[in-house]
Amino acid sequence: MTAPLRSRPELVRPLVHALHAYTPGEQPKIAGLIKLNTNENPYPPAPAVLRAVRAATDGRLRLYPNPTAERLRARLAELHGCTPDHVIVGNGSDELLAMAVRCFVEPAAKRATSASRVQYFEPSYSLYPVLAGTHGAVCHPVPLAEGFALPDPVSLRRGGRFDAHAALTLVTTPNAPSGRGYPTEELDRLCAALRGVVVLDEAYVDFAEENAMALALKHPHVLVARTFSKAYSLCFQRVGYFVGPPDLIAALHKIRDSYNVNGLGQVAAEATLDHLPYYQRNFARIVATRELLSRELRKRGFGVLPSSTNFLLVEPPAPAAGQWLEALRARKVLVRWFRSSPVERYLRITIGTPVEARALLRAVDHVLRAGHRAPRRA
Ligand SMILES: *Cc1c(COP(=O)(O)O)cnc(C)c1O
Repeated sequence: MTAPLRSRPELVRPLVHALHAYTPGEQPKIAGLIKLNTNENPYPPAPAVLRAVRAATDGRLRLYPNPTAERLRARLAELHGCTPDHVIVGNGSDELLAMAVRCFVEPAAKRATSASRVQYFEPSYSLYPVLAGTHGAVCHPVPLAEGFALPDPVSLRRGGRFDAHAALTLVTTPNAPSGRGYPTEELDRLCAALRGVVVLDEAYVDFAEENAMALALKHPHVLVARTFSKAYSLCFQRVGYFVGPPDLIAALHKIRDSYNVNGLGQVAAEATLDHLPYYQRNFARIVATRELLSRELRKRGFGVLPSSTNFLLVEPPAPAAGQWLEALRARKVLVRWFRSSPVERYLRITIGTPVEARALLRAVDHVLRAGHRAPRRA
């Protein structure tokens, strides 16, 4: 055995030392576990997508993929009624969100100004403050209104927290973790009230009634973020994209890694676009399961927020949400709990298959019957 290396913390930037890393949902390897914690789609990709990925898995893996995902961008442009210069593809939409921070926001100087502000609503996607922190930018959270509603621009200005000139405003729409959908008209008014870049993060929009893609094709400062992860069953492949004004898209391309989207991801995403009806059937199944689960949980005393997504935010009856997490986990059902957050009283439950929904309800019934005793820890 060699002597342990002396640690040299001074080798790491102070900014990085002070960072709080993003906490992803667990990916445990427990046999038989019902995983309802990270909003993955319970249905597999279309069979033709799996065939396309297999067919592309040969000696060509030695080659670099297309650097700008050219064919995929052309297909996406066609889908959204624009030209490919309105589209950039990323290694998941997370990569593009990070690039937007680097592209549009100045790291904070001594005196913080709007130029270094990353503004977002609270609660929303918990990655945003991490991305701002990593860049040395300033987090600018603005509370959502009652029931996780989007505050209207007038009350935002009156509230005093809102910065109309923030360099970047990130809006999760429909909202996560609440699941609440926002009408395009409200988003349009919000965009009109902002001077900096706005990203409408539509990761869950395929489960909603409306989408705001038109705003990215109308305003000079609005980008819409989409992903193949949740609705299109491709989390593993990491493919997301932005649609928006060509000058903003061109700026993002400048700071993109040369081969940021892996080749099999491009193949899978292109094949996905050839089979949209398969996915639309899955959206309908997930929405039907969501409505069934909402009704059944309400019957059992849960407060269930309306959802336009593939998850539910629910306020359980006693015991506390953290104890529910453990009690359900002991019954092999994993949900998400955001400890020390504005939604600490709630659980977030991904919509699975009808079979998974019934298993969740059985586990809930067991916990309710067992009363309020804290579960024994494993
Ligand atoms: C899951 C999620 C993303 C990230 O999607 P990827 O394309 O897998 O990186 C972005 N925004 C929100 C709100 C999400 O929930």
